[in-house]
Amino acid sequence: MRDTQLFQLALGINSRRFVAASDFDAEKKRLDIEIDFKAGVRFACPECKTADCPVHDTARKTWRHLDFFQHQAFLHARTPRITCTKCGGTLGETRLRLHAAVRGG
Ligand SMILES: [Zn+2]
Repeated sequence: MRDTQLFQLALGINSRRFVAASDFDAEKKRLDIEIDFKAGVRFACPECKTADCPVHDTARKTWRHLDFFQHQAFLHARTPRITCTKCGGTLGETRLRLHAAVRGG
């Protein structure tokens, strides 16, 4: 099993996203995991729940995760920015928390 697959299972990443890369630096005691979403994936509006809103832009975000044994762990994700076609609601990087980025819509 590749490390990206292992982290994907361990983090419980949903089917629309995947672990694109991971970098483990024993000297710096640091683990970095890069999460991305699949091309063409659409997301639901957080306001009115309209499904299938297209992504018009992305923003990169980093979260500190629980330590991986004695190593600091960081998750990085290209987060989707959408504008709802029905209500104009937006989903942007400032509203997206780690849980949503990994497991949510
Ligand atoms: Zn909406």
